[in-house]
Amino acid sequence: MKVLANDGISKSGVDKLESNGFEVITNKVNQEDLVNYINENSIEVILVRSATQVRKDIIDHCKSVKIIGRGGVGMDNIDVEYARKKGLTVINTPAASSQSVAELVMAHLFSISRFVFDSNRKMPINGAAEFKVLKKKYGKGIELRGKNLGIIGFGRIGQFTAKYALGAGMDVLAYDPFIDKTTIDLKIANQEIEVPISTCSLEKLLKNSDFISLHVPMPKDGQPLISTNEFNSMKKGMRIVNASRGGVLNESALEEAIKNEIVSFAALDVFVGEPYPNESLLKNEKISLTPHIGAATSEAQDRIGTELADKIINFYNQ
Ligand code: NAD
Repeated sequence: MKVLANDGISKSGVDKLESNGFEVITNKVNQEDLVNYINENSIEVILVRSATQVRKDIIDHCKSVKIIGRGGVGMDNIDVEYARKKGLTVINTPAASSQSVAELVMAHLFSISRFVFDSNRKMPINGAAEFKVLKKKYGKGIELRGKNLGIIGFGRIGQFTAKYALGAGMDVLAYDPFIDKTTIDLKIANQEIEVPISTCSLEKLLKNSDFISLHVPMPKDGQPLISTNEFNSMKKGMRIVNASRGGVLNESALEEAIKNEIVSFAALDVFVGEPYPNESLLKNEKISLTPHIGAATSEAQDRIGTELADKIINFYNQ
């Protein structure tokens, strides 16, 4: 059986599949050549991350394909319902990267509290000539401990982020219309600590959060969850992180809120129109930036690869 991992797969995933008799192809095939390649090579499993699209053309014209696998969470690049209707199995690895995304959020929270991202931009250019100027510019940081972190979307990543935030001494406010309360399990120095958290209204969260982190799927109506009205309800000078999906936050409303000093700093890992993000966001001195790398750690990639391999092996063993 042939597996085409078109956007790559970890070595642990390849090893597991190969030791179970699969041939794993990791050559990147261009989107427009995929139908022919799959048919010519009798590919039974196509694995993608976010780059390759698996749309109706592949589902309709590639009869050898039995499984479509997405390494990661969002399946916006796959026609999932259509594939399932046609009898294909669609799998993903929703939990494998939650911890990595939460850690990136914490990196951004620390970065936008202490100007780390901007200092790293300016020190190589002006650090020698203007050390004292930069020292003064970046000398008005704040601590995370004791601040309120509002988490919008309290699913897997939201709850992992809460663990880290609680560990850093922050207070967590959570909004999720589908969750009333939950318990966050912290393991610190071999001690188990259970922290019960009840969700609150969006209004309360917006009004009281010093920091906000977004962890929701893209709304079904395609409209941003956070736009001008929501920014206008936030604490003046608050800081916000988006590592969910680009369109969850209205980017021009964010820039306006930065101009109006409602938002003092923002951090973005995801963008509208990826891989071509809006240039004005990239040039904004108040925004800490990463190019959609939330899940991109070797640990998460290993978990994704082995989880996909396990699911494929189980499918063929049924
Ligand atoms: P999840 O399904 O576990 O959690 C999402 C939560 O959002 C759910 O609890 C749901 O009830 C809640 N929700 C839905 N609509 C809401 C709304 N309107 N307001 C508030 N809450 C709402 O998903 P997850 O695994 O935690 O992923 C969260 C987001 O992170 C997704 O958008 C995913 O695509 C994104 N993500 C980003 C990266 C990255 O690299 N930056 C990696 C993985 C996932």
